[in-house]
Amino acid sequence: MRDDRVMNRQESIVIDGSYGEGGGQILRTSLSLASITGKALKLVNIREGRKKPGLRPQHLTAVQACASVCGAKLEDAELGARKLTFVPGAIAPGSYEFHIGTAGAATLVLQTILPLLSMAKGESSLLVSGGTHVPWSPPYHHFAQVLLPTINQLGFRCKAQIKHWGWYPKGGGVIEARVKPYSPLGWLNLDQPFHLKSLSGISASSRLPEHIRVRQKKQVEARLDKAGIQGEIELLDVDARNPGTLLFLCLQGKDSLAGFSSLGARGKRAELVADEAADDLFVFLETGAALDHYLADQLLVYLANAPGKHKFTTSKVTQHLLTNAWVIEKFLPVKFEIDGGLGDPGRVVKRDV
Ligand code: ATP
Repeated sequence: MRDDRVMNRQESIVIDGSYGEGGGQILRTSLSLASITGKALKLVNIREGRKKPGLRPQHLTAVQACASVCGAKLEDAELGARKLTFVPGAIAPGSYEFHIGTAGAATLVLQTILPLLSMAKGESSLLVSGGTHVPWSPPYHHFAQVLLPTINQLGFRCKAQIKHWGWYPKGGGVIEARVKPYSPLGWLNLDQPFHLKSLSGISASSRLPEHIRVRQKKQVEARLDKAGIQGEIELLDVDARNPGTLLFLCLQGKDSLAGFSSLGARGKRAELVADEAADDLFVFLETGAALDHYLADQLLVYLANAPGKHKFTTSKVTQHLLTNAWVIEKFLPVKFEIDGGLGDPGRVVKRDV
């Protein structure tokens, strides 16, 4: 690995951040893989597909986090930047802290650096502060209860703990994680239909009357009951800087896990929060797919770094899934075959080439 990285320093990869959905995922995946392969990276048109293009605090923290973990040289990495250059050095395991400073998603910073710390030669500990349950990102519970157990089955060895919850807009959440070096364990072979074994969930709120989390729980229980699904929904009153609510449902299948969530907002009824998560869960179960579509796009980076053939079905082929495959194939000698139209259930096979 070390020899490849020395040779790769000469090679530079240009990634167009406006590809596909043109969002933050392209940046995060590119940074992880540039660090792992030792290839220099030039990113252009960063988040060109978003209303406020360029680097936002969460993205800049991810850039800086990768740079400190692998001693990278950076050019143009500043808030609002639409291009940057990242020339990685060697990945150094250790003890790191990264603070986003806003409610930007801490889970997305972790999403960026866990793959490279997994490829390091020693153990690392991490503390990331920011939002832990914020829109358009994995809520901490999906990250900890769905993504991590799934990748750990492959030989990635990551653990996480939430120390403090952080909602939009004030953030202030804290996640701690420990990462041990990847040691191959097996192949993902998940193209059999999802077979539900059990369901667990959380109805949580901060700085709001108890009836809100209780109503979320009651509504989701009524929906599940109607469908003949039993499960324990835990009520949590959590400390945080500002009010917020979460409804999270975790499905344990015979071979795989899936997670569905919804966040409260001012003026949004507690029943609607419950219904959104329940609707997503029922759509997922109807497809019979093994993995939810959020897990699907996030898994690709790990599969790309785990030698061998892996396959899974997903409830929906998303633009994030297609874009992530496109980015990964630019860095690594792997191929993703994705069957299924955009928005439809699909099947993904990863091969080494
Ligand atoms: P932007 O595109 O504005 O830059 P971003 O940096 O937040 O936003 P995206 O490119 O949209 O990033 O990627 C969001 C990531 O968060 C994806 O990996 C997606 O699967 C994941 N995600 C979003 N919502 C959820 C959810 N409810 N549960 C689990 N994962 C989620």
